[in-house]
Amino acid sequence: MRILGDENLFVKGIECVRMELGEPDASGRRRPVTVEGSEFTIDVDCVIMAIGTSPNPLIRTTTPGLDCESWGGIKTGEEGATSRPGVFAGGDTVTGAATVILAMGAGKTAAAAIDEYIKNK
Ligand SMILES: Cc1cc2nc3c(=O)[nH]c(=O)nc-3n(C[C@H](O)[C@H](O)[C@H](O)COP(=O)(O)OP(=O)(O)OC[C@H]3O[C@@H](n4cnc5c(N)ncnc54)[C@H](O)[C@@H]3O)c2cc1C
Repeated sequence: MRILGDENLFVKGIECVRMELGEPDASGRRRPVTVEGSEFTIDVDCVIMAIGTSPNPLIRTTTPGLDCESWGGIKTGEEGATSRPGVFAGGDTVTGAATVILAMGAGKTAAAAIDEYIKNK
């Protein structure tokens, strides 16, 4: 729910609430809903955000000639080829935050393109 700070603005806790699956909506999907009155606090002195939705900057900052989007994603053609010959990319680092199935599809497409690239080299 929120991160709690002390009077010096240091982290001192994190406030959470329990969730449960609600009734199915029109599409049949059960969405999580809060359990009323289930709020609780965990004492912590450090919080690490672990929901990364932007690409790790390491590769783009250390790879000369790799064209990237302004938001950090790697630019590719339809089959995953980047601006560096022989370097292919796919998944969230190309599309931005998306889904597992799209990342798997990009991997499969790039695998075929890599195979072609190697055969024609
Ligand atoms: C909280 C959350 C919930 C999600 N829920 C769903 C869901 O329900 N269904 C769904 O389809 N999708 C979901 N997604 C999205 C899904 O997880 C991603 O779309 C998918 O994992 C993208 O796969 P990827 O292989 O492109 O990237 P990733 O799975 O992020 O894999 C990239 C890998 O590269 C590694 N890496 C990064 N930089 C370097 C480097 N410099 N050197 C070496 N390795 C490096 C990373 O450690 C990581 O292991 C969710 C995402 C989040 C964050």
